[in-house]
Amino acid sequence: MLMVKIIEIQKICVLKVCLLIGLTLQSFFIKGNEKEATPFIQYSVSMPEPSNHLFHVILNCKGLEEDTIDFKMPRWMPGYYQIMDYSDEVRNFSANNSNGKNVPINKVDRNTWSAIPGKNTSFSISYDVYSDKKFVACNYLDTTHGYIITAATFMYIDGHLDIPVNLKIIPFSGWKDIATGLDKVVGMINEFTAPDFDVLYDCPILIGNLEKLPAFEINGVVHRFIAYNPGIFNRDQFISSLEKTVRTAINIMGDIPYSDYIFIGIGPGYGGIEHLNNTTVSFSGNDLEKPGAMIRMLKFLGHEYFHNYNVKRIRPYELGPFDYNRENKTNLLWVSEGLTVYYEYLIVKRAELMSTEELLASIESNINTIENDAGRHFQSLSQASYETWDDGPFGNRSGGPDKSISYYDKGPLIGMILDFSIRNATENRKSLDDVMRFLYRHYYKKLHRGFTDAEFQQACQSIAGISLSREFEYVYTTKEIDYSTYLSYAGLKISEEADKNTGMRKFTLMRQKNVNPLQLSILQSWSGN
Ligand SMILES: [Zn+2]
Repeated sequence: MLMVKIIEIQKICVLKVCLLIGLTLQSFFIKGNEKEATPFIQYSVSMPEPSNHLFHVILNCKGLEEDTIDFKMPRWMPGYYQIMDYSDEVRNFSANNSNGKNVPINKVDRNTWSAIPGKNTSFSISYDVYSDKKFVACNYLDTTHGYIITAATFMYIDGHLDIPVNLKIIPFSGWKDIATGLDKVVGMINEFTAPDFDVLYDCPILIGNLEKLPAFEINGVVHRFIAYNPGIFNRDQFISSLEKTVRTAINIMGDIPYSDYIFIGIGPGYGGIEHLNNTTVSFSGNDLEKPGAMIRMLKFLGHEYFHNYNVKRIRPYELGPFDYNRENKTNLLWVSEGLTVYYEYLIVKRAELMSTEELLASIESNINTIENDAGRHFQSLSQASYETWDDGPFGNRSGGPDKSISYYDKGPLIGMILDFSIRNATENRKSLDDVMRFLYRHYYKKLHRGFTDAEFQQACQSIAGISLSREFEYVYTTKEIDYSTYLSYAGLKISEEADKNTGMRKFTLMRQKNVNPLQLSILQSWSGN
């Protein structure tokens, strides 16, 4: 997730429900001579009157072994680490069996509806979801387009997150396009499938009359950009720069872990959310001609793209499998988010889409923010990660005493410190890139799990070949950062002055005049020169 500030989202939503009769689809799987019903569920979503902001959802179920079934709406979506209580937007929940009779329902808690259809009964539920917030982590529907956050729309059956899901989308009349990372059902129109709810919830859906920008292939893998109302800009130039950005990220990791990838532009706004084979991003190309705008956009898109590695696959132990019913707290969001900010800078620089000075200015900006944030004396980086569920994505900005920080600011600085420390300790033979590749290969590909706090530090130290306990104090304590030592490893230095107008501390990064061969080699390979 990355956002250009803002975002206190009020939770607003409305609903309505319907009945559904008849279940025709069944699924069986053979065990010996016995036919055993396996749970089958099929969702459909329609939007017959988009002006009322209501998505209408129907779920057909069969083969569930329980008498009582709890339907739960996730309380949050992975990538946006805030409790959203999407169930507040549900209206008119109802359930019917295949004979058209009402199935008894109890609302058990804020996000749970309990139905009692009886064992192995075919039945359906239906409800409406009010969708009027233009924000990347919320549903939106109007007469121009629809944006579906799957975790905010499709309830899971408690205890059955692992069942395959079939989804039929019925677009509003005249809407021709659907953009999503979900697999299509072969031979069917507007039908999609997910092997389980985790994949379903990892694939938002954009519906409307959308524009397909020129696609590009890297090592035979197609990357697409599909957008609603993308604005006026030079498509070819933009896509060429995006391709360089993506290619550079792939070169760092050395592997493409998906069969295709899609950038989904949901229209003007703020923020993006990462997924395994897609990202949804607020996007308008209208201002890309303005100074610095293209670089900001490429950093933003590079950030969301790099997340397909860092957080979706290279991930903290606590971030998967997800519990959609509560906060999934981890000390390591500074790795998932902060290092992704760090890599967005490196990727765009190494793709030769910005200069070394612009790379240094990006880091300088994080230093200036954190060093003028009084919260740095009170909250460590690991605490900021853990407490983001209470503090908000950028630290607690509620107006009280400033006792929190943003891992979006301090995280990339610690990324740089670890990177320069590893490079210095190994005479520039190893870097943070090696740490990322090790985490990807060892924890994602081999062990199929996330890493703990200790395992992350151990990975850095074994690549560096030395203890980095002093550097990790910047993660677990509020110790003031000694920038000069680490910057000098790359032949850089920092100066500080007070801003005459605001009195704020103002830091500037620059190159040292006389550098030794190791410093020069670190600066050059780090910045991709
Ligand atoms: Zn992010």
